[in-house]
Amino acid sequence: MTFPRQNPRIPEGINNPAAHPLRELIFLGLGLCALLLLAGVLIWAVLTRSAQWIPVSWEARIAPEISTAADYQASRQKLQKRLDHLLAAMYIRPEVDFDPDVKVTLNIVESDEPNAFATLGPQIFITTALLSDLRSETGLDMVLAHEAAHIVHRDPIRTMAGTLGIHLLMSMITGNTQVSALTGSGSQLLLLSYSREQEMAADDLALKTLYQVHGTLSGADEFFQQILSKDNNLPSFLLTHPHPQERIEHIRQMMQQYDF
Ligand SMILES: [Zn+2]
Repeated sequence: MTFPRQNPRIPEGINNPAAHPLRELIFLGLGLCALLLLAGVLIWAVLTRSAQWIPVSWEARIAPEISTAADYQASRQKLQKRLDHLLAAMYIRPEVDFDPDVKVTLNIVESDEPNAFATLGPQIFITTALLSDLRSETGLDMVLAHEAAHIVHRDPIRTMAGTLGIHLLMSMITGNTQVSALTGSGSQLLLLSYSREQEMAADDLALKTLYQVHGTLSGADEFFQQILSKDNNLPSFLLTHPHPQERIEHIRQMMQQYDF
């Protein structure tokens, strides 16, 4: 048996693609971006949906603890009663599935920034500036009911789970093991920003609850009207709640639907 004395000659250019290498690079880059985007969307969808099965008691362990200053304790107790009353009305709605024995804590934060938010715990915070801006009881109840609806929908834990998933995906891609959302301070867990769907769903439940409690929605938009009259200078309360204009229109539509 005879063997060739040297390796056979490989023809030139067999590994060269027909397309320009730059075109192929762009194509691969775009494909990779699309795959990452798809992975991100999938991770977000799975985690935000499955997080609702995490027991509420677990939230208390990771929630930041902020309590109301002694000066505002009397106001806090009054507001807590209003909130509990609104929550009791929410719990009897057939679409609401939330343990009525879970305590939802309300706290007042001294701040010049008008703001209110729902977060892990479950807890609701409202600033002194927002409280002094609110003129009517219905306006105040609208803010409280909106935040209560976020809690009842488990939006804080769902958003936190989705955000952590995206952070983990990003850290795997970049090789950065310092996942800020995991190692960060409580303030990162405090200010969660909710999606358009979550905001709309919270307004929806809030307005239905208001109607149930007050028998009318008149005055529910007083706070929003007041804001719109201020040259569109939206306070951070609405900026931390995205899509303010769309939300205001949604609230007005629902008011027309209920109150004619
Ligand atoms: Zn909101």
